[in-house]
Amino acid sequence: MEECIFCKIIKGEIPSEKVYEDEEILAFKDINPAAPIHILVIPKKHIATLLDVSKEDNYLIAKIYEVINQIAKDLGIAKDGFRVITNCGKDAGQEVMHIHFHLLAGRKLGAKIVG
Ligand code: 5GP
Ligand code: ZN
Repeated sequence: MEECIFCKIIKGEIPSEKVYEDEEILAFKDINPAAPIHILVIPKKHIATLLDVSKEDNYLIAKIYEVINQIAKDLGIAKDGFRVITNCGKDAGQEVMHIHFHLLAGRKLGAKIVG
């Protein structure tokens, strides 16, 4: 099976602009940003969607939020605010089947969170 695009980014087979990395989590700039700051935060473990998160992996999701907290402070967006989005499945428009958290900031994002 062809490996997923984010697993290739984790392995360095596809280049990315990394903003955070540890042994379990990677954060990198979205290639097609929807806001001045648009970062994708992912577990290095391949988990396809939010529906595939097992109990043993719950700590990874908690850790991703810790990482987002740190990135927000590091990038100076904590004060003005930011939005975190995870699309799951067809109707949400999930394109990459490796769970990811969009971190959006740098402009007023508006009250609506759905299109
Ligand atoms: P989704 O629609 O699955 O929630 O979001 C997938 C995101 O991945 C999109 O915002 C898209 O721009 C981003 N993306 C897709 N391919 C690549 C890539 O090769 N590199 C980077 N940095 N982002 C990508
Ligand atoms: Zn993957």
